Amino acid sequence: SSVMAKSKYEYVRNFETDDTCLRNCYIVVRLDGRNFHKFAEQHNFAKPNDDRALGLMTRSARSVMEELEDIIIAYGQSDEFSFIFKRSSNWFKRRASKLMTHVASQFSSSYVFYWREYFGEQPLLHPPGFDGRVVLYPSNRNLRDYLSWRQADCHINNLYNTVFWSLVLKGGLSTIQAEDKLKGTLAADKNEILFSEFNINYNKEPLIHRKGTSLIWEKIDETTTKQIKVLNEEKEVTVTKSRKRVTAHHCDIIGDQFWKEHPEILE
Ligand code: ATP
Ligand code: ATP
Ligand code: MG
Ligand code: MG
Ligand code: MG
Ligand code: MG
Repeated sequence: SSVMAKSKYEYVRNFETDDTCLRNCYIVVRLDGRNFHKFAEQHNFAKPNDDRALGLMTRSARSVMEELEDIIIAYGQSDEFSFIFKRSSNWFKRRASKLMTHVASQFSSSYVFYWREYFGEQPLLHPPGFDGRVVLYPSNRNLRDYLSWRQADCHINNLYNTVFWSLVLKGGLSTIQAEDKLKGTLAADKNEILFSEFNINYNKEPLIHRKGTSLIWEKIDETTTKQIKVLNEEKEVTVTKSRKRVTAHHCDIIGDQFWKEHPEILE
């Protein structure tokens, strides 16, 4: 400010680079757990899907949406979560490093803060970390294709992991034998192995594992009853308040239906 004298060191600020995100674009911040393959083993995650871990990821993502501004949708699977800022956001003047680091640190601290709610007495053995990246998408189509890409990834990995761990845990194969057996197989082959050898219909596996988790803001009408005094008479009235809340969905986001049901997400 004009009151404070500037020191001779002030010039070093000019070494900072401009990382303003291009206007009009959706800003995507994707986080991914560091070394979670090992982290999962150290903390006895169930294979192929640990529901405590998925719950904690989603709780942390919810905290990011509630504490930070302008996030319209978040999508998560495995050890990753993507956060989409609305195209018109001017939060932190759209500075990529500010947005990304706030998302990553809010998420990481929440992961530790809420650990006990999901893992109970099982101790957290060391502080987990998450990397972050920023990607800009200029059109609704590009953004939807980005989210479709992540959900397709969820499906491909989950189908593979479901067969792989069935072969190992129920079929008695070693991990190397299971890997060999699945080499070169197509989705149809994997479905067939699951069905004929383990009586598993993949399409009946839990949606949360097959589709991942989408978090959006939804208006919820909350009806409460209140006691009020009118002309010295006690009366009970119902009050309906509309509040925005983060809701979780485990559905297909590749097709049009989800977007038709929630037209307010995309601008
Ligand atoms: P990097 O640091 O490069 O991201 P990584 O070990 O985290 O390495 P990823 O490709 O991100 O590798 O894979 C995450 C791994 O974490 C999965 O392959 C799986 O082993 C484990 N994992 C994450 N979430 C769960 C979960 N809910 N249940 C079981 N395992 C999980
Ligand atoms: P922003 O989110 O923009 O960084 P801020 O409130 O964190 O806003 P800073 O300029 O970073 O603003 O200032 C940090 C403030 O935190 C200090 O001005 C002081 O009030 C407080 N603070 C930080 N560390 C200490 C400390 N060790 N003891 C007392 N106060 C502290
Ligand atoms: Mg990775
Ligand atoms: Mg990872
Ligand atoms: Mg990952
Ligand atoms: Mg500060």
